[in-house]
Amino acid sequence: MKEFGYQRAVDVSGAVALLGADPDARYLGGGTNLVDLMKAGVERPAGLVDVRELPLDEIELTEAGGLRIGATVTNSDLAAHPEVRRRYPALAQAVLAGASGQLRNMATVGGNLLQRTRCGYFADLTKPCNKREPGSGCPAIEGEHRNHAILGATEHCVATHPSDMGVALSAFDAVVEYETADGPGRLPLADFYLPVGDTPHLETALPPGALITGVTLPPAPVAAVSRYRKVRERASYAFAIGSLAAALDVRDGLVREVRLAFGAVASRPWRAREAEAALCGGPATAEAFAAAADAELAAAETLPDNAYKVTLMRNLVVSVLTELTEEADR
Ligand SMILES: Cc1cc2nc3c(=O)[nH]c(=O)nc-3n(C[C@H](O)[C@H](O)[C@H](O)COP(=O)(O)OP(=O)(O)OC[C@H]3O[C@@H](n4cnc5c(N)ncnc54)[C@H](O)[C@@H]3O)c2cc1C
Ligand code: SF4
Repeated sequence: MKEFGYQRAVDVSGAVALLGADPDARYLGGGTNLVDLMKAGVERPAGLVDVRELPLDEIELTEAGGLRIGATVTNSDLAAHPEVRRRYPALAQAVLAGASGQLRNMATVGGNLLQRTRCGYFADLTKPCNKREPGSGCPAIEGEHRNHAILGATEHCVATHPSDMGVALSAFDAVVEYETADGPGRLPLADFYLPVGDTPHLETALPPGALITGVTLPPAPVAAVSRYRKVRERASYAFAIGSLAAALDVRDGLVREVRLAFGAVASRPWRAREAEAALCGGPATAEAFAAAADAELAAAETLPDNAYKVTLMRNLVVSVLTELTEEADR
């Protein structure tokens, strides 16, 4: 492991200034992803700016009736918060579906959104990888890609984003807030992650040196009837091979509002807007749910070993929306 400096920031402007003074430094949240990558030699920062003592650890109701979640709120505190559980249950479920209790106690909201892909080649310095070393190639396309992307990928990279939390935040139109030396900024989650294109190493639209300060969720009454369902190869402590955050408002058998976001199928949480549009105003039936999933997945481009994800996601949409419809009927 390369030698690195360590500084603890005590306020937001101080953190931004410390990073600005050393462009090769990185912010340190819980360290559960960054430190692993440093040990593997994938990340080689000159210094770390520890942000865990910043006053960004609150979850507050907004005047509009949504929630503002500070960037250093731990995954455990987020999942346990009564207003998160009441207003956005799928978010609490998504966070609890991730990692382990110990990791969730350390991991932060900002760090979770910026965690790197779990593609094995990315973390293996003996292999080429366009995301780690632009222009070196993507061995996953011909090699191990069972858990790689079926939506929005390109020949330059087929990696998936691993965050469960991000999938629920996407369904609920979260806005990421950040601070830079030039002042604050905001990015809707829909614009936060960049398309893969031919630059898979550029993952977000955050300006250089930006410190994530929090995430705001607008009010979403539909979110009160919501669910996160994660499919994985073990019952716990495993990343998703496919996941769904869904919220549904059904009246008299018709869909009044629906939110759908897919996880583990793209380089970012994938908001399923085609499926949402297909469902709105129509019947809440298994046939309609399947047709909506098909509309979204029509854009899927699969590789030999990940084509199963199309069926998996279709089945997830049908089963979760059917459950939510039954819940609304009770
Ligand atoms: C074994 C294991 C299993 C896991 N399973 C899952 C899972 O199933 N689902 C899931 O979603 N996650 C999973 N995780 C990932 C875990 O949730 C992430 O490692 C964690 O959320 C990252 O948060 P952190 O605070 O530790 O980030 P760090 O490791 O501290 O940082 C990650 C990145 O974010 C940057 N960063 C951190 N905070 C800020 C900030 N405020 N502003 C700007 N940049 C910042 C860092 O510089 C770094 O680049 C797993 C991790 C492990 C090790
Ligand atoms: S899928 Fe992306 S992260 Fe994985 S080897 Fe290819 S370029 Fe690298």
